[in-house]
Amino acid sequence: HKWVYAFGDGTAEGHAGLRDLLGGKGANLAEMSNLGLPVPPGFTITTEVCTAFYDNNRQYPEGLEAQAEAALTHVGEIVGARFGDPANPLLVSVRSGGRASMPGMMDTVLNLGLNDETVKGLAEKAGDERFAYDSYRRFIQMYSDVVMGLDHHSFEEILDIFKEENEYYLDTDLSAEDWKEVITRYKRLVEEELEEPFPQGVTAQLWGAIGAVFGSWQNVRAKTYRRLHNIPDSWGTAVNVQAMVFGNMGTQSATGVAFTRNPSTGEKLIYGEFLINAQGEDVVAGIRTPQSLTKAAREAGKETKPSMEEAMPEAYTELRAIFERLEAHYRDMQDIEFTVQAGKLWMLQTRNGKRTAKAAIKIAVDMVKEGLISKEEAIGRVDASSLDQLLHPTLDPDAPRNIVATGLPASPGAASGKIVFSSDEAADMKSHGEDVILVRIETSPEDIHGMHSAAGILTTRGGMTSHAAVVARGMGKPCVSGAGSLRIDYARQTMSVMGDTFHKGDLITIDGSAGQIIKGAVPTRQPELSGDFAQLMEWADKIRKLKVRTNAETPHDAKTARKFGAEGIGLCRTEHMFFEDERILAVREMIVADDSAGRKKALDKILPMQRDDFRQLFEIMKGLPVTIRLLDPPLHEFLPHTEEEVEEVAAQAGLDPEKLKRRLGQLSEFNPMLGHRGCRLGVSHPEIYEMQARAIFEAALLAGEQTGAPVVPEVMVPLVATKNELDFLKPRIDAVAEAVMKEKGARFDYSVGTMIELPRAALQAGKIAETAEFFSFGTNDLTQTAFGISRDDAASFLNEYLTNGILEQDPFVSLDREGVGELIAIAAERGRATRPGMKMGICGEHGGDPASIRFCADHGLDYVSCSPYRVPIARLAAAQAAV
Ligand code: PEP
Ligand code: MG
Repeated sequence: HKWVYAFGDGTAEGHAGLRDLLGGKGANLAEMSNLGLPVPPGFTITTEVCTAFYDNNRQYPEGLEAQAEAALTHVGEIVGARFGDPANPLLVSVRSGGRASMPGMMDTVLNLGLNDETVKGLAEKAGDERFAYDSYRRFIQMYSDVVMGLDHHSFEEILDIFKEENEYYLDTDLSAEDWKEVITRYKRLVEEELEEPFPQGVTAQLWGAIGAVFGSWQNVRAKTYRRLHNIPDSWGTAVNVQAMVFGNMGTQSATGVAFTRNPSTGEKLIYGEFLINAQGEDVVAGIRTPQSLTKAAREAGKETKPSMEEAMPEAYTELRAIFERLEAHYRDMQDIEFTVQAGKLWMLQTRNGKRTAKAAIKIAVDMVKEGLISKEEAIGRVDASSLDQLLHPTLDPDAPRNIVATGLPASPGAASGKIVFSSDEAADMKSHGEDVILVRIETSPEDIHGMHSAAGILTTRGGMTSHAAVVARGMGKPCVSGAGSLRIDYARQTMSVMGDTFHKGDLITIDGSAGQIIKGAVPTRQPELSGDFAQLMEWADKIRKLKVRTNAETPHDAKTARKFGAEGIGLCRTEHMFFEDERILAVREMIVADDSAGRKKALDKILPMQRDDFRQLFEIMKGLPVTIRLLDPPLHEFLPHTEEEVEEVAAQAGLDPEKLKRRLGQLSEFNPMLGHRGCRLGVSHPEIYEMQARAIFEAALLAGEQTGAPVVPEVMVPLVATKNELDFLKPRIDAVAEAVMKEKGARFDYSVGTMIELPRAALQAGKIAETAEFFSFGTNDLTQTAFGISRDDAASFLNEYLTNGILEQDPFVSLDREGVGELIAIAAERGRATRPGMKMGICGEHGGDPASIRFCADHGLDYVSCSPYRVPIARLAAAQAAV
């Protein structure tokens, strides 16, 4: 069996298509080698080895060692060096690389192959003793940390003490002799702590590092990351062993990261950072503040240190050309790592770059215009859920801003919240419903949960590609990084700048698009949805087959949804209007009425208000379909509950408090969700539904006259379980329609349908469709009743279901295809068998969830209906389901 795939020297055994086997990094290193790009030679140990390793009690499969060692010998031949050769040593890096990128989650070892003998050879070969011993001390520190489990802080402490003793300030102040002394102390620390010397055998070092990388697949960070990103444990990681190239070999050496386009805005400009005389991890770690790649970026940022374009023009020109080749080849924006060793450029990684939603849209639209991808591909390039980032308000540009400091605009958007200084605190306060800004000197992978909980992230150190910046962009959270003028004191829990001191809990705002830190909260403004966004949506609208409607009951929501492109209202929950203004009084009067006559009197007061609500909605929707659902919740929800409230309401409404209390007692239920609600209310009090039907029909006529577009209202009956319920209610609704037509001397079309939100209704859909003219799947209640899980109480135990893998996803967020989905499929099929071409949609929360929308498309539903802010997400997801 083949466990090892070699690459380098213009060829490779693998290629980009072998991502599952070689991991993303390994597959792309092979691909770049095949393209003839300058890639240091190396080999990839496959993800199958990782899986086999864990399946077999952490034992490697047979044949692996021989294959790896042969591949290493070959690498040495290409480079012209030999692993462990004291005179001419080959050094390698050992890195993880899974199928899905997990930035910073797993371990890496650099400079492997150094020992007390080979370090002399390296010094000789490089003609630079200082460089060789600097590399060796880095190796001891990294290897001891990653492979032997010694905390890197202990090593940093030794170095700090050494610097203090010698009055040095910077690492660059240390000479070769100094590094030798530091190395002696490092080795002593290893021996004292572990009671064994630092390993001198290079083969032992190699297998130690490989074992550590495979081991890191199961570390806590990596597991958390996988859970958050739905990456299965079974995928495993590959290990890449690659000849070292050195960015720390003097002033013509450097290491850097770059994006072929701006990952925040999508602009087609080279974007990235580099550090002269440094090694790979230094940039990502955000320890030194890096320099720009281009002269233009340096000038824009008013940086004093030269850009790569200026400092290393030849390597820069080559890099630029490679960017173009890579983009043309991968047809997507690339995220690249490179090293320059003594003036010569080497490529260490390429992958499709993570980007904000804004950048994703711009890049997709631009690449269509550049002829790189098709419109269909462009639609597939944007994660529909991520549009959420663009649909929410940004800081009002006209509002005053009390800017206390600025940093780098690391991830766009704005957020206000209370300051917290630790990730645990961020998670804790978030769980108590507080918005927080996580303020850290820098973040590390241990902060993932805090970043997840925070509304925004602020760091004082690190560049645009620091951990905080990369992770925040991936999460779609605003982030300001590298705000160097801020001083954070973790012990005192304060952040200070120019005499201003902020404490934990103080309110601040960060603007991740401008890099600003602002005192207090700043008012926000609605987003503009023009330009590239509108273009992509236009393409999506042409491709999709599902219609997208909105759930709305207020004119404000209806207008917002129209602006976002809603094609009608799929669910108007009439009861939401019952609480508006003074109408709750009339509603209460209706509920406490003794008899039908008393109830009619109160309903007559409600009728004109409801009619006016519906008229406004119809007018905003200008002839687009509008589904209005008749009263659904139990009546007691509209009554006051505490003794005090009862007194107050009774006085206000001129009702007898005793009578009100008695009525409350009568209406109280053990299990209201399964009680007197939905069409059961219509059955016991037909006059309520009749009033609502009248309001709908009269409003339809009024709005039709006003806008000139005839309104065809869809009247929807909730929580139906049997055909007989509808057979009881529909004739009454029809009678109201007849009466209105007669009174007004005008005719109109309308339809009467039902929600399918009970399992019995789904199974009996064939019969129900004899009466119902349309179906709308109420998947909130359908999920609740199919699982028998109360939608209002699920939070207290659902988390354990998710963390233990009993459920893969919260079924109230993403449709449970297996169970609830089957009920929908059955209902759709049986309904259509009775009434061919019957109109069907979905109006539960799932109508705005991309995976659920795909399900609806697959089952031939006509539309999805979702909250206004999810309308664009649904439009894009519907298009993705159609390509
Ligand atoms: C549903 O049950 O899915 C639905 C849309 O109705 P509601 O959420 O109002 O119960
Ligand atoms: Mg419902």
